[in-house]
Amino acid sequence: MAYLSVAVPVPLRQLFTYTHSTPLEAGVRVQVPFGPRKLVGVVIDVIDEDSHEIENVKKLKSVEAVIDEYPIVDGVLLKMAQWLWQYYHHAPGEVLHAMLPVLLRKGEKAQLVPEERVRLTSVGEQSQSNTLSRAPKQKAFFEALQTSSLSAQQSRKLYGAPAVKAVIDKSLAEIVEVVPELKPKIWLSTMKVAQKPTPDTEQSVAIAALNRQQDNFAISLLEGVTGSGKTEVYLQAIEPLLAAGKQILILVPEIGLTPQTVSRFEKRFNIDVGVLHSQLSDKARLRVWQRARAGELGIIIGTRSAIFTPLKTPGMIIVDEEHDESFKQQDGLRYHARDLAAMRAKQHSIPLLLGSATPALESLNNALNGRYAHLHLTRRAGGAQHTQLHVLDAREQPLHYGISQALLTIMRQHINAGNQVLVFVNRRGYAPALLCHHCGETVMCKRCDRPYTVHKSQNRLQCHHCAGTRVMPRQCEACHSSTLVTAGTGTEQVEDGLMSLFPDAKQVRIDSDTVRGKDKLHSTLDAINRQEYQLLVGTQILSKGHHFPHVTLVAVLDCDGALFSADFRAPEKLAQLVTQLAGRAGRAAKPGEMWLQTHNPHHPLLQDLVNNGYGHFARHALTERKAAGLPPYISQFVVRCESIDSAQAFSFLQGCRGVFTSYSNELEMNGPFPSLIEKRQGRFRFMLICSHQKRAPLHEALRQSLPFLQSLHQAPKVRWSVDIDPTDF
Ligand code: ADP
Repeated sequence: MAYLSVAVPVPLRQLFTYTHSTPLEAGVRVQVPFGPRKLVGVVIDVIDEDSHEIENVKKLKSVEAVIDEYPIVDGVLLKMAQWLWQYYHHAPGEVLHAMLPVLLRKGEKAQLVPEERVRLTSVGEQSQSNTLSRAPKQKAFFEALQTSSLSAQQSRKLYGAPAVKAVIDKSLAEIVEVVPELKPKIWLSTMKVAQKPTPDTEQSVAIAALNRQQDNFAISLLEGVTGSGKTEVYLQAIEPLLAAGKQILILVPEIGLTPQTVSRFEKRFNIDVGVLHSQLSDKARLRVWQRARAGELGIIIGTRSAIFTPLKTPGMIIVDEEHDESFKQQDGLRYHARDLAAMRAKQHSIPLLLGSATPALESLNNALNGRYAHLHLTRRAGGAQHTQLHVLDAREQPLHYGISQALLTIMRQHINAGNQVLVFVNRRGYAPALLCHHCGETVMCKRCDRPYTVHKSQNRLQCHHCAGTRVMPRQCEACHSSTLVTAGTGTEQVEDGLMSLFPDAKQVRIDSDTVRGKDKLHSTLDAINRQEYQLLVGTQILSKGHHFPHVTLVAVLDCDGALFSADFRAPEKLAQLVTQLAGRAGRAAKPGEMWLQTHNPHHPLLQDLVNNGYGHFARHALTERKAAGLPPYISQFVVRCESIDSAQAFSFLQGCRGVFTSYSNELEMNGPFPSLIEKRQGRFRFMLICSHQKRAPLHEALRQSLPFLQSLHQAPKVRWSVDIDPTDF
């Protein structure tokens, strides 16, 4: 009889012991009984029979089924799992669950399953395609089959299901089930490096430095202004690794995973790139997982959770736009993929490359203090000019749909010169509030205590916190006046306004209301680059890494809100946003400029950014953080709590504060106080921020306190969670 320690997907911070007739290897999935349920767990360890961990042998349940013949979670990923549940104080079973593709969580086989393929029959092999000349789709499909068999699914997608059926019905082709074979390093058989630009001096220095790190753990920060050729550095740095049969894992922000990015890597090396993102089907995700694990894919590009992809011959991990907020998971297991990438690279003894024009202050600090190698690209590649930044004083200026006359004049000049203008607005919708012109009452979402956003095109109000909607009221609910007016400006209103101000210019709006789904975004971006539009209006989505060669002006309509936020990270986020937006302009032969319209033209942050750039701003912000005792110079966690009863949420956190105080008098605690979004979906939200100069004692205090927090009498009545190294309040 063997005793197994198993991670079971339940929200409890512990492993569970099960028995089995023989010991099983760590990383093997098993089906186990858990209360009335049967769950898929992962074996973490075999426990010694004499161990004190086995208390009541008679009560132990046995494994019901062994799912895998061999471990599907390898040693490095198991270590990573362990690190995750310890560092983030999270339930082990939930950690393992988060690391696996959905189908494997459900107990599906990890090996490749037979796939339906279409191949020619013997009749088909002796036939000529011109017999099908009256049915062009069937003919094209038949001709493709003459070269090789095709996956049935792919065939239907490419040639249409009726054509595929017709060719099969004519006995020219048949469907067979085949188990695909996975071949490690198969990319070497097609790999051929396409023509590449000669790197400039800075790029050469960076590539050489990265080449020297091969086969060793090292972290480098590539701080390169927008359009400076960072991606070119990635491409040239990974070339010798790929040629040596090593796999490259590249993490990109959610929105940055465009077909253009993927095809740049595919075209450079003439190899198949594995892609992982949230909109992939479960089956497709599992397939990439299997191919990466078998070492068949040389390059895997994916968003946050791609950091859990198994690799057979790892060579390097790259985190592109490493400052991007999408790398931090904001619910459940709140991990930061950049930190995990560092942990993983260390386990594999391979280099990690972080790249950004606007590095996170945490990364920059590590580069400045020598923990990371610091590589610089200060010039734009191919001779492109830096975008000129300017502040536009909007005080006492008449505004047309939120835009000053001076800005309109500049926009007109750029449009008349045949270029494109990008207008950034930080809110989607028509206006951020609807209020009564008579009594001043604002129409509020009762569940969040926040004004509804007006969405005029849908004739509805929408709450941007809980996504709740209602029809546009005709009357004020307080005084019944019918004079309701909007306040503030959103993308929809700017779009309306620009249509009347620039009737000759074609315009496109890009926000989450207009581009639902990745395909729509990609087709719109392509249309922009074909110069089908002169005016682009949109939100944050526009700031993320897109290449707009014809944009020469970026106009930011309102950056005042972010200057006065209570979030100490707000200036960093604003500076990153502004710099990234500026990076969209002047990327090709045409020089670009950016205008920031503000009512605070002398604000030191804006002045610093405009005159000295992000690099200077960030270094200055670091000295301010140091003086104020804020991350990255201290460590933090936050306990969040929400409840429909605000007093209960508050008193739970007060209880937490009491527990922490009894464990350590060194913790600095702030709160409990309301979260920046105080109420959402009818629940009041509070937080307690705990800090310490050193990470270890902070985590130790939390580890010791957690069982007591769980047993506070309010705990079962509220929703609470711990967020380590929070990035968002
Ligand atoms: P980033 O990743 O920093 O935004 P890219 O690598 O996308 O920059 O480079 C921006 C543009 O400059 C691309 O079109 C790229 O092909 C080109 N480029 C990069 N490096 C060079 C170089 N050394 N010489 C000429 N063009 C280059």
